[in-house]
Amino acid sequence: MRAMVLDAPRRKLRLEEHAEPRHPGPRDVLIRVHACGVCRTDLHVVDGELADPKLPLVPGHEIVGTVAEVGSEVERLKAGDRVGVPWLGWTDGTCAYCRSGRENLCDHARFTGYTIDGGYAEYTVADERYCFPIPAAFGDVAAAPLLCAGLIGYRALKLAGEPDSVGFYGFGAAAHIAAQVARHRGQRVFAFTRPGDSAGQDFARGLGAVWAGGSDTAPPEPLDAALIFAPVGALVPAALAATVKGGTVVCAGIHMSDIPRFPYRLLWEERVLRSVANLTRRDGEEFMALAPQVPVRTTTMPFPLAQANEALASLREGRVEGAAVLVP
Ligand SMILES: [Zn+2]
Ligand SMILES: [Zn+2]
Repeated sequence: MRAMVLDAPRRKLRLEEHAEPRHPGPRDVLIRVHACGVCRTDLHVVDGELADPKLPLVPGHEIVGTVAEVGSEVERLKAGDRVGVPWLGWTDGTCAYCRSGRENLCDHARFTGYTIDGGYAEYTVADERYCFPIPAAFGDVAAAPLLCAGLIGYRALKLAGEPDSVGFYGFGAAAHIAAQVARHRGQRVFAFTRPGDSAGQDFARGLGAVWAGGSDTAPPEPLDAALIFAPVGALVPAALAATVKGGTVVCAGIHMSDIPRFPYRLLWEERVLRSVANLTRRDGEEFMALAPQVPVRTTTMPFPLAQANEALASLREGRVEGAAVLVP
């Protein structure tokens, strides 16, 4: 099979023409990949901003495919089933976090496309217990961004409570989905893009944002909550300054540049600053049930598998509207 392989951080991915698909273990399924989303986390892995990836590594954790072969103890899936594979690839089920419904924080979690091989390939292997069924309403490419951008956006929105108004800092793959969920809930969406990115602001307004502007400007009114998807620490004090008393700011990325010093008064008055890490399988089940009801419409930019480096470069340079998706 063909696979795009990272040999070492800060190097381009290498196309391997005759990679061996892994043999599925007892609880694993072998999946023929139809589409794999390109997430900002992939960039952080490739750029060496996340420590200790498996090497060599096949990145990619927004996988949509069909089951080609099942391991000897697989119970839920059979050959031909269409499934999605998310970032959370395995947990121990025994640590204090797993036992308290917080498997996203598992001490020994393994992550698809980071500590286990992912979906930038024609085939991948996943533990069936961490795969999700894909709603029939979504095609393969359209569904791929649901697996991380959608899920993390959903979890971030959940952690923001029940705001009437919510700001999105960074209007990329995650925000363009979460904004639709927010609107579905009757929340008013405010979008912050890179300063001067008028195309991105138009994109946000097209998805129902009541206001869109540069991240260097204040919103026209204080916000009940803000979600930060851009990996820019300077947005943290900006978002705190834009929220009401008791408002919540959620940092939704896995990596962010350092947060600059800011005066305590920005946090004062019971503002809450928190991060969101990974996902639980419950998030996945909830979100996959919700997505067709909204209904979420993903905007995608497909690339052939062999052009994974170009897809990553486009994302790095802010040239992707919605989500980039690799198609083998
Ligand atoms: Zn655990
Ligand atoms: Zn991701």
